[in-house]
Amino acid sequence: MTSTSDATTNEAAFAHARSVLPGGVSSPVRAYGSVGGTPRLIASARGAYVTDVEGREYVDLVASWGPALLGHAHPAVVAAVQEAAARGLSFGAPTCAEAELADAVIARVPAVEKLRLVSTGTEATMTAVRLARGVTGRPLIVKFAGCYHGHVDALLASAGSGLATLAMPGSAGVTAAAAAETIVLPYNDLAAVEAVFAARGSDIAAVITEAAPANMGVVAPNPGFNAGLRTITQAQGALLILDEVLTGFRVSASGWWGLEGAAEGWAPDIFTFGKVIGGGMPVAALGGPAAIMDHLAPLGPVYQAGTLSGNPVAVAAGLATLRAADTAVYEHVDRAADVVSEAVSAALAGAGVAHTVQRAGSLFSFAFGEPTADASGIPGPRDYAAVQAQEAWRYPPFFHAMLDAGVALPPSVFEAWFLTAAHDADAVGRIVDALPAAARAAADATRP
Ligand code: PLP
Repeated sequence: MTSTSDATTNEAAFAHARSVLPGGVSSPVRAYGSVGGTPRLIASARGAYVTDVEGREYVDLVASWGPALLGHAHPAVVAAVQEAAARGLSFGAPTCAEAELADAVIARVPAVEKLRLVSTGTEATMTAVRLARGVTGRPLIVKFAGCYHGHVDALLASAGSGLATLAMPGSAGVTAAAAAETIVLPYNDLAAVEAVFAARGSDIAAVITEAAPANMGVVAPNPGFNAGLRTITQAQGALLILDEVLTGFRVSASGWWGLEGAAEGWAPDIFTFGKVIGGGMPVAALGGPAAIMDHLAPLGPVYQAGTLSGNPVAVAAGLATLRAADTAVYEHVDRAADVVSEAVSAALAGAGVAHTVQRAGSLFSFAFGEPTADASGIPGPRDYAAVQAQEAWRYPPFFHAMLDAGVALPPSVFEAWFLTAAHDADAVGRIVDALPAAARAAADATRP
């Protein structure tokens, strides 16, 4: 049988992958489930570009689903990884670099006093939930429909990301008991949060929310929503878990909290981080005040552990990424987000495609259909139900027209577009050049 590495065409390589990996992928969001066609198998990536197994280059707006803030294979990150690898891949013992990474996070997010390193965002949110239950002695968790917090049993109900893409309400294999401990509310609806606390407040351990949701497409929190969650949870003795796995160190040096909470004077009890904190390697973390974090073992009774937690090679990549992510990087990514989102919007408008630009910091996505608005007056979908009601069928032809023109977008309308510090004028120009044909393809799409 032809192995993937022997296959000369992308089709043959994916056919082989499908025969040995469920769906041909190691994570469902990579499977082109909602756009159709064959995923490109990527052989290498540099800067703003990825290259597939046939040698075809694409401007990349996936950026490894967020981590590649600096662009792919940034020289400082690659050098740090090579140096760390040469010193040994994993020790199973504490290292100075772990504390240096904690220092780097605390310097950027001063609401964090202590950090626990884990390997994936899923582990970070899973541990945050356990910690909240351990601290409060309460069982229930409140989450919002459309917010994705990884594939934690208790957090998969009405999650966005791959579940939105594949139109799955939740996952088989999650027990009724696990699901019953999660209360799912509509996003951006503080009245619903108040009502659930009025009914069950003494049983609620925590509210978990994406700092700015980007897994149902981008839906920014209404002004005052996150602050309102803070006020309600504090008054009710519950914890607030701010999931910054996607936004942390990406939308600003201090994440979404830096754009909102720091300015408004509030902080969550637990932050979760991932993606950029590992610079493309498996690092994630949870952090918060020492009084909460010290409930974790070995100091406290809440158990959490990991053979590869704080892995020295992965931590080196994260540290190098955070150190290189200076003000100029964030300014560049913000500007590139302005240019690309405005160009897409202009192209769609030019082709007569009704849409809204959904934006939160440098993150953006597009919702297809006549703009809706809730009581906030902000145009476009403001919760999961509204997001799902859009003309999502316009996205696959748009996506494929862009791909054919050498631009790799996220393969789902329910995902954010990611720009990097490496998206220079040439890369942005290639995106802009591809837009008119893609917008026409979206315009010509017919409702299934
Ligand atoms: N939380 C958020 C907000 C995410 O976007 C993700 C992943 O996309 C996760 C948690 C889970 O992270 P991981 O895929 O590293 O397990």
